[in-house]
Amino acid sequence: MRKGYLVIGLLAILVAGGVTAFFMGRNLQRHLVITKPEVQAASVAKPVFKYGLNLSEFKVLTHVVKQNEFFADILTQYNVTYATIDFLARQSKSIFNLNKMKAGNHCTVLCEKSDSGLVPKKLIYEESKVDYVVFNLDDSLYTYRGQNKVVRKHQEVSGVINSSLYETLEANNMSPALAVRLSEIFAWTVDFYKIQQGDKFKVVYDEDFVNGESVGIGQINSCVFNSSGKDFYAFYYAKDDAHEGDYYDENGNSMKKEFLKAPVKFSRISSRYSLNRFHPVTKEWKAHLGTDYAAPFGTPIMATADGVIEDACFKVYNGNYVKIRHNGQYKTQYLHMSKIAKGIHPGARVKQGEVIGYVGATGLATGPHVCYRFWKDGQQVDPLRQKLTFADPMPAKYKPDFLAKIKPVKQRMDAIVYNAPKPKAESESVANGSDNYILKSNF
Ligand SMILES: [Zn+2]
Repeated sequence: MRKGYLVIGLLAILVAGGVTAFFMGRNLQRHLVITKPEVQAASVAKPVFKYGLNLSEFKVLTHVVKQNEFFADILTQYNVTYATIDFLARQSKSIFNLNKMKAGNHCTVLCEKSDSGLVPKKLIYEESKVDYVVFNLDDSLYTYRGQNKVVRKHQEVSGVINSSLYETLEANNMSPALAVRLSEIFAWTVDFYKIQQGDKFKVVYDEDFVNGESVGIGQINSCVFNSSGKDFYAFYYAKDDAHEGDYYDENGNSMKKEFLKAPVKFSRISSRYSLNRFHPVTKEWKAHLGTDYAAPFGTPIMATADGVIEDACFKVYNGNYVKIRHNGQYKTQYLHMSKIAKGIHPGARVKQGEVIGYVGATGLATGPHVCYRFWKDGQQVDPLRQKLTFADPMPAKYKPDFLAKIKPVKQRMDAIVYNAPKPKAESESVANGSDNYILKSNF
């Protein structure tokens, strides 16, 4: 490896020398003679900087905090006396709470280099991938905090799905966190439970790195998901810096579809979603995972969004009920109906606002109402607290600005070539023409 570096180094010098020679003529000889020893010296002792320290000056030991392992337990393993530990523990109180050391987090112990035994000089505890605490054990005892430099990189990646999106990202050496973000952006346009082999995606986003390691995904600026041969674009747009933006398709339509606020018109909420309420029939305190809308018997109940009927039947507690699957993320359920509407059976497609049944009091109910249940990712949540599902359409006055801004973004994204799926071992070669990408794969 070192030889490789030397050859590359010398080649670089020769190339640089050639350029220099072009301008400086006879100075080339002298130039080469001066630079050559420096390259050799550099390849022998390459300084490694981390935590604002030159690690090559120390014997570097790494330690992973174990379950129930405390600060003192770690330091005693490195021959630090109890008196020193006690002093440090008291002195560091205002800087770092030692009880907050987490199992699984990394410590780096820097020991004296020349010594054959272990003489620790510093212990660095990594609180997160960004924040660290340095305990100085050298001639004086003190503690201080530091932060690793976060480098934000612009990433342009693409992939062809051969299993799940998550696995494809992993196999292509991309952050699996992208899968979650993409599934949120495309929640209403792409069914991630039904993505097919050969579906493709491109994503342009910011990613933060510390020492070459990804520490998080920033903004996804634009992305396109090609499902069954159809392109679904999403562009992030904020009207100005002071406002949080949203995702829109290439025509400025919101990526989110609205749910109706309630499944019945002219009703009142008689009981809200609550994790603990007194049940009027069972007389027990338990969670109520729905929102009750009281309305007269026979009031039509509407589907709050487009979808496919999953259940339409009678059950002891639910009474007559209908469950609709809207997409891979959302489902809604409507209980205690007096009657399920005609044509509402599993597999039937319904439109937003379509009547699916009528208010009643079947099952466990005291009076006529519809218990509306809202499912997100398999969990029952409070629809009234789901800000995300009620998107604001883009005001018309912003549309020209939006269309002008996304034009070059779309052209650039369209120019990205889809990467063919690669086996994991070859993921280093999935470089996508981006230097950042090669850098990332090498870590
Ligand atoms: Zn209810």
